[in-house]
Amino acid sequence: MPAINFAHVKFGKSDSCVTAFQRALISRGHRIPAGATGYYGDQTKAACAAFQRARGWSGSGADGLPGPQTFARLGFTDSRADSGSKSGRVSSPVPGRSVTYPYGVRNSRYAAGFHTGDDYAAPTGTPVVAVLSGTIVWSNDNGGAYGKWLGLRADNGRDYVYCHLSAREVRTGTRVIAGQRLGRVGATGNVTGPHLHFEDRPRGGGYGNVRDPRW
Ligand SMILES: [Zn+2]
Repeated sequence: MPAINFAHVKFGKSDSCVTAFQRALISRGHRIPAGATGYYGDQTKAACAAFQRARGWSGSGADGLPGPQTFARLGFTDSRADSGSKSGRVSSPVPGRSVTYPYGVRNSRYAAGFHTGDDYAAPTGTPVVAVLSGTIVWSNDNGGAYGKWLGLRADNGRDYVYCHLSAREVRTGTRVIAGQRLGRVGATGNVTGPHLHFEDRPRGGGYGNVRDPRW
């Protein structure tokens, strides 16, 4: 089975993993007018949605954004998950869950004008874990629109922000190791349903000072 990095196949992104994904859709008869350009835009989204509908999926299962089932049915395995198991790397801040609404989507309902993190939809109570070892630099209920939240200052120098939690299980100043449980998915703050909103900021960075999350 070919391996691609699932985290690189996101709406609005350009990546060689997107090219492989597009070729797989095209080879199954789902037309992308511009071809396998490596850019995940509306054409790829439409082809992906057609592939998903052809599987009999509907609703969020046919939204044109690939999840584990879509990748599996296209014959892909996750290269990051593979390398993760070898190195002890944490492949998701919500173990077993992948991004359901990606970083960077433009939307005027956000003050920054775009989605400032990756969302991982999961039932309330699902554990969230440290993606890297580091120190908790805040953990409180004062996130406003972000509800109960905490910040992990990781050993790579980045601040990872965990939002909308139902429970926080670490205090400010706590040293944590990669994979350690930090709290639970919830729906606190300004949300429509339970999910983790996960941001990647430079050390001390504020709202909107973010990059596409990676670690
Ligand atoms: Zn979000």
